[in-house]
Amino acid sequence: MYQASTLPDKQGYFGEFGGSFVPPNLQEVLDDVARAYLEYRNDPEFEREFRDLLQNYVGRPSILYYAKRLTEKLGGAKIYLKREDLNHTGAHKINNTIGQVLLAKRLGKKRVIAETGAGQHGVATATACALFGMECIIYMGEEDIKRQALNVFRMELLGAKVIPVTSGTKTLKDAVDQALNDLIENYKTTYYMLGSAVGPHPYPLMVRDFQSVIGEETKTQITKAEGRLPDYLIACVGGGSNAIGLFAPYYKDRDVKFIGVEPGGKGLETPFHAATLTKGKKGQIHGFKCYSLEDEKGEPLPVYSIAAGLDYPGVGPEHSFYKETGRAEYVTVTDDEALAAFQELSKIEGIIPALESAHAIAYTIKLAPTLPQDQLIIVNLSGRGDKDVNQVAEILRGKF
Ligand SMILES: *Cc1c(COP(=O)(O)O)cnc(C)c1O
Repeated sequence: MYQASTLPDKQGYFGEFGGSFVPPNLQEVLDDVARAYLEYRNDPEFEREFRDLLQNYVGRPSILYYAKRLTEKLGGAKIYLKREDLNHTGAHKINNTIGQVLLAKRLGKKRVIAETGAGQHGVATATACALFGMECIIYMGEEDIKRQALNVFRMELLGAKVIPVTSGTKTLKDAVDQALNDLIENYKTTYYMLGSAVGPHPYPLMVRDFQSVIGEETKTQITKAEGRLPDYLIACVGGGSNAIGLFAPYYKDRDVKFIGVEPGGKGLETPFHAATLTKGKKGQIHGFKCYSLEDEKGEPLPVYSIAAGLDYPGVGPEHSFYKETGRAEYVTVTDDEALAAFQELSKIEGIIPALESAHAIAYTIKLAPTLPQDQLIIVNLSGRGDKDVNQVAEILRGKF
C-alpha cells in the first residue's frame, strides 16, 4: 500500500492530533481493526486486489485534464483538473469504500454499517457492499432522509437497509452515535465503514492511504505532461479525505504548495460556515483530537455549507498537523463564490462540478490570475455535480 508520506505514531497521532478517545469496549474493537490494517497495509496480495478493483470497477486511473479554456480566460497559471468525478458513482468516496470492504472481508465480517449525512458515503458504501454481497446497514438522521430522498432510494436499490435515526438533532452526529452503538453490540460480525479521513485511529490513516491513489496518479500524469511536478495542489476540505489523498504523496516534495479550501458558507463573520481549520480551535470530537468548531463546553457547534458534503464541525488530524506545521495553507470561499464557480466551470469547460469541488475551483479562479504563466496548478475535482443541479436550480430561481 501507499508508503510515501509520514505515518502517525503507534497511538495514531500526527503531531498532537489524532489518537483515539472511545469507551474501553469500543477501543478493543478498534485495536483489532488497527492491528489487521497495519498488517494488510504491507500485504502485496491485499494491494493487488485493491488496485485491480480500482482499475476494473472504479475505472482508474482518472484523467488529469488540462483546462485550457479556463486557463486562457484567467490568464495566469496553467490549470489541470484531476477528474475524480469520472469514477464509478461519480466521486472520490468509492476509492475508500472499496479499500475498507476488502479489509472487512479479510476480517471475516459479513455485515457492514456506516453513517451518512448527505448520503454520498452511504451510496459508496452500499455500492462496495453490493459488489461483495455483504449485508449493509446505513444509519441516517431522519432530517437528512427527508432532504436526500434520492440517495436513500439509491442505497435501497443497491441492497442496503437505511435506518432512520430519530434521536437528538436527527442528523449526522446522531447517526454516528447510533452506528457506534450497533458496532459495540455486534462487533463480532460487523465492520464499521467510516467515510472520511476522520475519527479515531486507524481510520484517518486508512482513509488517507486508500485515497492517496489520487495524488500518486497525478505525479505520474503531470510528469508525463509537463516534465515536472506541479507548483500548487488545491482541494476542498470537509473531513479532508479527497484533499489528503491528493496532498500526502507530495508531502516530501517541499516545493509543491498545498491549499485546502474550506466552506465559508454565508461568511466567516456569521455562524453559517464550516471553516474548521480557519476558525476552529484545538479540541476533541467523535473520538479524536483535531481543530474543531465547538462551544464553550466543548460541544460541536452546528455548522453549515451550501455543499452538504463539507458541513462537518471537525477535520482530519493530518490536516490539523499540516496547518500547525505550516505544510499546508487553508483558505475559505463563500457559498456565493462556490455557486459562481459551479456555473463558470460548467459553461467554460463543459464540466458540472459537485458543489464541494466548486469550492476548490472558486479559489483557483482567484489564485490563477495572480501567478505567472509558467506555474502549474492541479485542482482536485472530487465529484460530479449532477447530484446538485436541483438544489442549484432552486437557488438561482430564487435569486432572479
Ligand atoms: C464527501 C465529499 C467531499 C468532502 O469530503 P472529504 O472527506 O473532505 O473529501 C468532497 N467532495 C465530494 C464530491 C464529496 O462527495
